[in-house]
Amino acid sequence: MEILETAAALQTLTETWRREGRRIGFVPTMGALHEGHLQLVRTAAAENDVVVVSIFVNPTQFNNADDFKFYPRTLESDAALLQGTGATVIFAPSVEQMYPRTSVVRFDFGPLERVMEGAKRPGHFNGVATVVSKLFHLSRPHQAYFGQKDWQQVAVVQQLLADLSFDLKLVSCPTIREEDGLAMSSRNRRLRPEARAVAPRLYEALQLTAAALREGLSPGEAQQKGAEWLQQFPDIELEYLEVADAQTLQPAWAGPSAEQPLVICLAAWLGGVRLIDNVLVDGE
Ligand code: AMP
Repeated sequence: MEILETAAALQTLTETWRREGRRIGFVPTMGALHEGHLQLVRTAAAENDVVVVSIFVNPTQFNNADDFKFYPRTLESDAALLQGTGATVIFAPSVEQMYPRTSVVRFDFGPLERVMEGAKRPGHFNGVATVVSKLFHLSRPHQAYFGQKDWQQVAVVQQLLADLSFDLKLVSCPTIREEDGLAMSSRNRRLRPEARAVAPRLYEALQLTAAALREGLSPGEAQQKGAEWLQQFPDIELEYLEVADAQTLQPAWAGPSAEQPLVICLAAWLGGVRLIDNVLVDGE
C-alpha cells in the first residue's frame, strides 16, 4: 500500500484509474485511526475496485488552536492498521500541498450550520467543505464514505454534493462503539483515566433521552431529562444536548415518526477533551 504525499501524484493515479474504468471509493480521515475508520475502509473496499484513504489533519476546520495542536498524528501506525483492510493507497499530504495559497472562498450552509456543531464551532463546516471539496477533486471518487458519528457533517456534505453537483455518492455508515458504549474517536486517546471512566455516560444519556421520546415525552422534556441526568457527573461538562429533525437538524417540536425521524446529538467536555455523539430515533 503506497503512501502518496502530493496532490499531483494522487491526481495522476486517480486519472489513470478513471480511464481504466475502475470504481474509486474514498474515505477521508484525520488519522489516529480506530475501528470506526477501518469499518469505513472495509465497506469502501467491498463496494469499489480501489480505495483512497486520506489522512490529513485539516487546519481550517479547527476553531480551537489547542485542539489542532494536540490532535494525535500517528501516520506510521495508521498505515500498519490499514494493512489488510482493502485500502489501495494512503494520501497523506502536507498543509502546503492542500493549501498552496490561503483559500478565500467561504461556504455558508444556512440553517444546517446555525445549530449544534456549526453554532458552537464557528467556521468548522467552512473548513470541512473546503477540504472535502479539494479531496473530492483530487481523488475523483465514485463513492465517498462518512461516519454517522458526525451526523451534522454528513448532512452538510450531502448539501455540498447537491449544491456543487459533485458526481459521486455519499455512503454514511453506522457509528462504531467501544464495548461500554463510548463512540470510538481519535480524541478518546487523549482522555485521562478518570475522564475515560465516565465517558460512556454520554451514550447512556442519549439512550435515556431516546427512551423518553419513545415513551411519549416531548422533545423539550426528553432533552431536559437527558441533560439533567448528566449533571450528576461532575467530570462531564455538557455543551449541548439537542433533539432535532434528523434531516434538517432544526429543533424538533413533535415526537419521532416514520416520516420524521429525530436525531439526538450532544457535545461535552471531559477534562479538556471535547467529544460528540448522537443516536437516531426513527419512531419504530
Ligand atoms: P475523523 O478522522 O474523526 O475526521 O473521521 C473520519 C471519518 O470517520 C468521518 O466520516 C467520521 O464520521 C468517521 N468516524 C469517526 N469515528 C467513527 C466511529 N466511531 N464510527 C463510525 N465512523 C466514524
